[in-house]
Amino acid sequence: MTTTDTAPALRRFGRTAVDVPVIGQGTWQMERDARDGCIEALRAGLDLGMTHLDTAELYGEGRVETLVSEAIAGRRDEIFLVSKVKPQNAGRFGAIEACERSLKRLGTDRLDCYLLHWRGPVPLAETIEAFERLEQAGKIRSWGVSNFDVADLEEAEKLAGPGRIACNQVLYHPDERDIEEAVIPWCEARGIAVVGYSPFGSRGGFPTADSARGRALDAVAAKHGVSARQVVLAWVSRTPALLAIPKASRAAHVRENARALRLTLDAEDLATLERAFPRR
Ligand code: NAP
Repeated sequence: MTTTDTAPALRRFGRTAVDVPVIGQGTWQMERDARDGCIEALRAGLDLGMTHLDTAELYGEGRVETLVSEAIAGRRDEIFLVSKVKPQNAGRFGAIEACERSLKRLGTDRLDCYLLHWRGPVPLAETIEAFERLEQAGKIRSWGVSNFDVADLEEAEKLAGPGRIACNQVLYHPDERDIEEAVIPWCEARGIAVVGYSPFGSRGGFPTADSARGRALDAVAAKHGVSARQVVLAWVSRTPALLAIPKASRAAHVRENARALRLTLDAEDLATLERAFPRR
């Protein structure tokens, strides 16, 4: 494997003063999986340096935040903890109440970043007002957005002022590169972290080994002595603004994903992947 260091690669999380691992851990749909296995997997990830944990009040209607609280018990200070408010709860008062509920379920007194899950019916000005109040009160260390395009980001920046949005969490994997055109450059220019979700295309979306895309991934993987998924994780976190949050409910998957923390793709690899997964 092409390694850069023996320690996990870290990257500054937007405007925060915190460096987080380039690969963190997602938790969507963990309520459907074996609870003990999920907790074991999350803890294994923490042991391997994947300390950026992403959750949301939406996930299992709070059940996933409760599961996360068990996984992080006694280890809160190691973790960069992110949760999200549902759009319908993101009003001036609603977002504050939703955050309090998330904190309670997570068994903590603060979030490292709190996100608007996606834009909904509530005026953005109200959500930002609530986020700023939560930050002033020390309940959150920073705030960000999710599923925002450039028009949404511009509106949020106009309302909040420059330098306030810590991150934009968006769909990103080799088959879904829309954010490369405008969202990534916009965020990069302002030091906003771009957190790519569903790096494997979620459940069942990963290229099969008998497809041209799968063969391209396998060729790069074979060159480095790694797996195709490790190649994808290195690809989705390949530039300074990008962070990835794969979800894995099995410790074996987490261990595999964690090895990508130290994998660097070279120009030849990137060219191979560019041919197999062209931007549309
Ligand atoms: P994903 O991470 O692309 O894929 C998860 C699937 O990949 C699971 O079925 C998992 O299996 C499997 N997997 C993980 N590592 C593997 C490995 N090494 N080998 C084989 N299979 C592996 O999908 P995602 O959950 O959609 O996205 C990741 C996270 O992003 C979410 O969990 C969530 O935190 C966040 N997200 C945010 C939004 C948003 O709107 N902001 C939307 C979607 C997702 P097991 O679970 O069985 O291990």
